[in-house]
Amino acid sequence: MPIEQSTLSNAHARTAEECLAALDAGPGGLAAAEAERRLAVFGPNRLPAAEGRSALRRFLGQFHNVLIYVLLGAAVVTAALQHWIDTGVILAVVLANAVIGFIQEGKAEQAMTAIRNMLAPHAAVLRDGRRVTVDGADLVPGDVALLEAGDKVPADMRLLEARGLAAQEAVLTGESVPVDKAVGPVADDAALGDRRSMLWSGTLVTKGTARGVIVSTGRATEIGRIGGLLSDVQEITTPLVQQMDHFARWLTFLILVVAGLLLVYGYYVGHHAFSEMFMVVVGIAVAAIPEGLPAVMTITLAIGVQAMARRNAIVRRLPAIEAIGSVSVICTDKTGTLTRNEMVVAAVETPDGAFEVSGEGYAPEGEVTPTGDLQRLAAAAAHCNDAALTFRDDQWTVEGDPMEGALLAFAGKVRHPREARRIDAIPFDSRHRYMAVLSENADGRVTHVKGAPERVLRMCAGLDYDHWHERAEAMALRGLRVLALAERREEADEVDEASLSGSLTFLGLVGLIDPPRQESIAAVAECRAAGIRVKMITGDHAGTAMAIARQIGLENSGRVLTGADIDRLDDAQLALEVLSVDIFARTSPEHKLRLVTALQAHGLSVAMTGDGVNDAPALKRADAGIAMGLKGSEAAKEAADLVLADDNFATIAAAVREGRTVYDNLKKVITWTLPTNAGEAATVILALLAGLALPVTAVQILWVNLITAVTLGLALAFEPTEAGTMERPPRPRDMPIMSGFLVWQVTLVAILFLAAVFGVFTYALDRGYPLPLAQTMAMNMLVVLEIFHLFFIRNMHGTSLTWSAVRGTPVVWLVVVIVVLAQFAVTYLPPLQAILGTQSVPLADGFLIVAIGAVSFTITEIEKQIRLGLMKRNSGKVSASDDL
Ligand code: ATP
Repeated sequence: MPIEQSTLSNAHARTAEECLAALDAGPGGLAAAEAERRLAVFGPNRLPAAEGRSALRRFLGQFHNVLIYVLLGAAVVTAALQHWIDTGVILAVVLANAVIGFIQEGKAEQAMTAIRNMLAPHAAVLRDGRRVTVDGADLVPGDVALLEAGDKVPADMRLLEARGLAAQEAVLTGESVPVDKAVGPVADDAALGDRRSMLWSGTLVTKGTARGVIVSTGRATEIGRIGGLLSDVQEITTPLVQQMDHFARWLTFLILVVAGLLLVYGYYVGHHAFSEMFMVVVGIAVAAIPEGLPAVMTITLAIGVQAMARRNAIVRRLPAIEAIGSVSVICTDKTGTLTRNEMVVAAVETPDGAFEVSGEGYAPEGEVTPTGDLQRLAAAAAHCNDAALTFRDDQWTVEGDPMEGALLAFAGKVRHPREARRIDAIPFDSRHRYMAVLSENADGRVTHVKGAPERVLRMCAGLDYDHWHERAEAMALRGLRVLALAERREEADEVDEASLSGSLTFLGLVGLIDPPRQESIAAVAECRAAGIRVKMITGDHAGTAMAIARQIGLENSGRVLTGADIDRLDDAQLALEVLSVDIFARTSPEHKLRLVTALQAHGLSVAMTGDGVNDAPALKRADAGIAMGLKGSEAAKEAADLVLADDNFATIAAAVREGRTVYDNLKKVITWTLPTNAGEAATVILALLAGLALPVTAVQILWVNLITAVTLGLALAFEPTEAGTMERPPRPRDMPIMSGFLVWQVTLVAILFLAAVFGVFTYALDRGYPLPLAQTMAMNMLVVLEIFHLFFIRNMHGTSLTWSAVRGTPVVWLVVVIVVLAQFAVTYLPPLQAILGTQSVPLADGFLIVAIGAVSFTITEIEKQIRLGLMKRNSGKVSASDDL
């Protein structure tokens, strides 16, 4: 009878068989068709999406900003003074800012959600009796799922099999110590945390392996019922954005103080009317406030996140986007990251002799030469194995670990009939580096063991350890990944670690090829050029690690430190060694944590990759924790800042490049915006002190700020990577954005702006032009300067006087055209002239304005060239990243 009930109550108290029967399922899982039918009945295994902030609240959130409060305050006072046009324009600008911010923030949030969805979990289940990987959302009650250490439990399940199993259930019970699990039923009224025969959706498997039947999915799970796991909403902020927020608050305070002082000065000393003075002060406040900056910074980050996602680097935590751009050391795994993780058995050595194995990929077809009896070795390869090979689309593929897939292919090549029933197992663990399986077939019971040679050889009896150790070394030096295989005839129905030692019969060594990825060679070279050291931290043998490192151009000192070596060093000694060694072999996850700490002690900014459950602490500790998207465990992904969708080292280099680009662009946005505001404010203040009329009215300043921020400013968010970005050394960790250089840059440009705007204004007055015309010219001068400044800023690290710099990007020219058209409109169209108080500028004066812009641009460019020249001379002594 088909089941229709979405959850099986009391599964913990019933036996595994009873649960299977109640769910109308078997230990071999459901038929694919039945699973599909159940999916239609029960719905996808998904929790309802987290409710984001409502649109209205997001919109109102746009006004929650001190800069905006000041503008709103100004609007209220101008209204009280009945300066309706000013009130209208201020409100229009505030509103326009809010709308733009709202749209952009919405886009940024959408982009982040879409990118997070790329990390949707998968689960290994049995369908039609075969192991397949399916989307976590497709699981249904009755499915039999396979889990191992590091997996996130995809749905509530009743255990059918558990080996050394423990789960961390803090999300559900608050208990942070992992709970041991077992198959036996527990008391009916046991509390959730005591139902040891169950695994709960959303919890993490911390060790061991499990097979379980799913009893409830989606909302019917325990976590679904309490509405948990939904607080996945991310803050759209980074250290740099926070620094800017802080700066903005400080700036607002400063502006208010200066404005207040000027009001008092103008009223009492200058004897101006209060309402007139107040409008001047509003002008200053409006000029000095970088209203558009927060929104433009947010969009810059969002664009960076998307650019990284296109390069297969998925940002899990936004601050990482800055951290990855500043890394000075990348610690990377070998298998699958530097190498392809497409394994094939190439060589075999048994006490009977040495054999070469031919064949490509995972097809169980190929020759073993010379011929010999390798059946027992093949039995170990096939049974001490959790993978499965499938033939799909004319190709053999692996479900599970590629190395185990290669062993299955090898067993196929020697025509081993893979038939045995598994009774017990010790799962592989990167700490003990072997795996053991007890199985039974017609010939009786056998325990098969496979693992790292030094480990397995020590467990074998009657064996010339030194000889075989040497043989394994020789294979490793060829760049092969080496495994030792052994067996023991059994009576028992359990394998335990203690009894294995010294009792095994050695069967042979197997050498697997795992070719390096071609692209990692180029990526390692790129990192070197960018002043980033690359270190390989692998669980593999020192010889194999060294051979692979040589193939990809990574090692330089010829030294390898093994996990055992690291154990012998204290933290201070390790910190000394860690700089000169690039290869760390036979390490376990605990070593990774010590290595990160040792590198950080030198002030280095460390990126660390990881895949296993035990890598989580090192990933968290690293400045940029990077998890593998394909072979990584959920535990590693959750601890990481960045996930590589393709597990490829080259993607890390690409992410560094994007990270540097984003940081540069944020800096460009800031360096473009601040001098503009400072220049405007200085102009107004100078006019006031000189007893002149305002060169640019408050309304005009607001107009300029609005139109240029959303066009020219935003264009900087789309800037491509500058040439030479990956040839600069990394910027120091925690370098403040407001460096001495930036202050100098802001001051210089502000002075140029001041001189140009003021100059044009007084020139116009001297020629006897009416005040509105002089103001119109000053306003246009400001915009022209901003356009030239944009071209200057686009190439902070090189010259802006090349053809490609002038040609720019389509975005840049698009915004320039928009701004120019807008300026023509407000200067020459009568209705707009009425609002902004402008007058048509004579053609010759228009040319004069553009010429002054060009002169100012030339001055800044000369300053840059002198500075870059000095830097080049000093390079080596000073880091280039002390400046922009
Ligand atoms: P990397 O850290 O570069 O990814 P790795 O994958 O070789 O390296 P581990 O997975 O920790 O690191 O493996 C360490 C060693 O343990 C391997 O060199 C191999 O000898 C052994 N080993 C790996 N996987 C298995 C397995 N499934 N069964 C038995 N032994 C294994």
